[in-house]
Amino acid sequence: MNVISTNTPTAELQALDAAHHLHPFTHAAALNKKGARIITRAEGCWLTDSEGNRILDGMAGLWCVNVGYGRRELADAAHRQMMELPFYNTFFQTSHVPAIALSTKLAELAPGTLNHVFFAGSGSEANDTNLRMVRAYWMQKGQPERQWIISRWNGYHGSTVGAGSLGGMKPMHTQGVPTIPGIAHIDQPNWWSEGGDLSPEEFGLERARQLEAKILELGPENVAAFIAEPVQGAGGVIVAPDSYWPEIQRIVKKYGILLIADEVICGFGRTGNWFGSQTLGIQPDIMTIAKGLSSGYQPIGGSIVSDEVAEVIGSMEFNHGYTYSGHPVACAVALENLRILEEDGIVDRVREDTAPYLKTKFEALAEHPLVGEAKIVGMMGSIALTPDKASRAAFASEAGTVGLICRERCFANNLIMRHVYDRMILSPALVISKSEIDTLIDRAWQCLDETHAKLKAEGMM
Ligand code: PMP
Repeated sequence: MNVISTNTPTAELQALDAAHHLHPFTHAAALNKKGARIITRAEGCWLTDSEGNRILDGMAGLWCVNVGYGRRELADAAHRQMMELPFYNTFFQTSHVPAIALSTKLAELAPGTLNHVFFAGSGSEANDTNLRMVRAYWMQKGQPERQWIISRWNGYHGSTVGAGSLGGMKPMHTQGVPTIPGIAHIDQPNWWSEGGDLSPEEFGLERARQLEAKILELGPENVAAFIAEPVQGAGGVIVAPDSYWPEIQRIVKKYGILLIADEVICGFGRTGNWFGSQTLGIQPDIMTIAKGLSSGYQPIGGSIVSDEVAEVIGSMEFNHGYTYSGHPVACAVALENLRILEEDGIVDRVREDTAPYLKTKFEALAEHPLVGEAKIVGMMGSIALTPDKASRAAFASEAGTVGLICRERCFANNLIMRHVYDRMILSPALVISKSEIDTLIDRAWQCLDETHAKLKAEGMM
């Protein structure tokens, strides 16, 4: 058999990738024409590709490698667990030590009365759990008409049919998925693009009050829950104005509807606290978790639910679960990851030291002629590219054209930053050092300069 390895020439790997591997969220024909970049190794915040380039990963993979790459303790935890008990399920009256230990630790870390964990294999699966759980909750409470779930346009909650319907990504809704019934969307609190003449604070209130209007339109007695990310991630790192979350909190309380905070990106230190809800002053009934839970070393997600939700759900048989709910190896790795985050003081260091350092440098990017706003919370930030800061104008080109050019310049300069339409986003490993932050910001300036020069040369601004 022809062995494929990291020693196989890049062109050959690319040809095989093109021939056999379908990539998520990718235009395959376009990718196959140029060939994928092939990542072979990683250490800390640095990737190595098959050509030997060292690339600074400003995205921590997909916002998930919070403790950085190459942590031997996580590999050891997986090895130990595989030898001891590689798999057993948690259905049918059984449990095992890794699931018990991880759920106990999560109950300790999570705020308020969020003391109970339903495990899943990913963030999407966890949001599917939430969808079924909040509806089952209201049925069990004798209010079966409470079925509507309200979410936000441009929010992201995953890619399964359920989670994709919950999310507000219109391009996903229009492709092959009739969205499932009983989900309504309100507008996002994106002041830069949609705030018009309102101040950020006025706009934040206006957008939060859309929730109240939607509840009244559907009938409060028909609404089960509101779901949102504390800071929208995949939508472009959209940080709501300060007025937004207190008003949301007031509204969900007034109408007695459940609040689901999707912490898949914001959880596990990304915003400088264990959970984004703590940073933004949100009191959810349910939190969705994944990504940073295991720093991406194992696929695992879950829903952490309040005492009250757990009590209601626990008073019947909840007909839901996944083969890999509470997978022992994933749980063991996640538990070790939480130990590292805690004992190495990573979350505290982000909050008190590296995130403030990054914030000063990141916000200074707004001085670049191409950058409108630069927003950052903890270790997740974004910059809005614009041809005219004063009017917060969008480019004349199709949305995303300029962002893509900028991302290509990042690629060429060995920096991973992602673009969402014409915003550039950043979410590095939480272990990034100050000197690596300096390198990252220097490269970002360079990429912005090159993008600016290209736009001018091509008459695009
Ligand atoms: N929720 C949020 C907020 C996310 O960012 C993501 C993934 N980017 C998901 C859910 C879905 O998680 P997964 O890809 O693990 O299914």
